[in-house]
Amino acid sequence: METLYHSTRSSNEVVTSKQAILTGIAPDGGLYVSDQLGAQLVDLARVAHQGYHATARDVLATLLSDYTADEVASCVAGAYGDNFDTPAITPLTPLGADWLLELYHGPTCAFKDVALQMLPRLMSVAREGDGHDVMIVTATSGDTGKAALEGFADVAGTGVTVFYPDGKVSDIQHLQMATQRGANVAVAGIRGNFDDAQTQVKRIFADPAVNARLAEAGVVLSSANSINVGRLVPQVTYYMDAYAQLVQRGAIAVGDEVDYCVPTGNFGDVLAGYYAKRLGLPVGRLIVASNTNKVLTDFIETGTYDRRRDFVKTISPSMDILISSNLERLLYYLTDGDCERVAAWMADLSKTGVYTLPTEVMDRMRETFDCGFATDDDTRDTIRSTWESEHVLIDTHTAVGKCVIDRRASEGRQRVCLSTANPYKFSADVLAALGVRTDGMDGFACMDALQELTGVEAPRQLSGLREAKVLHPDVCDQDEMSDFVEAACARVFA
Ligand SMILES: *Cc1c(COP(=O)(O)O)cnc(C)c1O
Repeated sequence: METLYHSTRSSNEVVTSKQAILTGIAPDGGLYVSDQLGAQLVDLARVAHQGYHATARDVLATLLSDYTADEVASCVAGAYGDNFDTPAITPLTPLGADWLLELYHGPTCAFKDVALQMLPRLMSVAREGDGHDVMIVTATSGDTGKAALEGFADVAGTGVTVFYPDGKVSDIQHLQMATQRGANVAVAGIRGNFDDAQTQVKRIFADPAVNARLAEAGVVLSSANSINVGRLVPQVTYYMDAYAQLVQRGAIAVGDEVDYCVPTGNFGDVLAGYYAKRLGLPVGRLIVASNTNKVLTDFIETGTYDRRRDFVKTISPSMDILISSNLERLLYYLTDGDCERVAAWMADLSKTGVYTLPTEVMDRMRETFDCGFATDDDTRDTIRSTWESEHVLIDTHTAVGKCVIDRRASEGRQRVCLSTANPYKFSADVLAALGVRTDGMDGFACMDALQELTGVEAPRQLSGLREAKVLHPDVCDQDEMSDFVEAACARVFA
């Protein structure tokens, strides 16, 4: 059975998964979803006893059924090779009574690598025979940008343009992006926050004049943000693989439910957990952990999604998000595919900044989803206590999840905390949390000090930035972003 996709906001236009992956966002502004989600379950007994690559192939074959078995196999082999620093890809390690799922062993030391090492390969296969060049345009709150640049750099027939909020990413994150090599990459800071950047990128995608000019040059725009089906699907794998690791360690029997706690921003990561559940994985609770920008906590508790609040800059910047785009997909499934209602809520959100769901929809959501938030102080306390009591060093995002899960009783299930970044990606804040004064220290000084203090080695991908040259110094206004994209296309696809 072929898995077909259409927009969350209307089901008139149906596309294959290849088309959905090439397009990114649906023409009406909705996100691509499939009505066949869950019609075909993965074989749990098999998943529980196989390794990462085999499970990745099963997940892709189920959700992206127009890729041939050979295409899937070659994408999986290419995405998860020695670009990851462990053959386990996403190893599970004990953390007190719970488990830490380490999602940060890829080339940029953050969980987005798991999807962004895969997406370019899926796109490259999808564009075969179509002939167009694809320019990826991405807004990033820090980690996505570098992961997209690493994934797409020098991939034939593609280019990648990344916008980040100037001054609102860590100095190491900034260097990771500004030093990116590759003939097909473009990077700029923008004056504004992440939501401004994302809103503007959505506008560029929807701009008929820009798209017409590019089409004439044989270029189509696409997205590498977590709204792309090709980003979402690879993330389903590690929920299943974590489950398999628990079985293989004897911590659970096949069929036991497991809870997952997910540091959340755009809702992509935790939504992949929901997909895993729909595909037959025995997921107990999915715990949505937020920082002080706790729109999602308030939403899950009250049923009202309200973005009308001040945007707070926290020490977990990749979660500083007021519009969690992927939530729209969950609304679609919770209403059994009621595009009209989803479209109306999204129109409310864009017009008034708020929408409220009926009780029966919220009840359905709460059957699976739970929530909690951590302030920066909570986050720092958790980093310190986790280091002191477990001798495990966690980053500021992971600590939000750990703090939220620590406040809850376990309800008798094994619990997995998703660890979304290597602690050295946020050295200054991790070091400060351990009680060291960091005034006047740059990112590298903090890295050195953290290494000295803990004996945990800094990853080469980050420490090596010291010698790298800044190649992308640009900063632009929001209304200049569209011109920047067109100029990048002209240069890359000349
Ligand atoms: C992107 C990111 C998150 C949030 O993930 P979403 O899929 O946007 O919810 C959490 N932690 C880190 C380190 C990230 O880079």
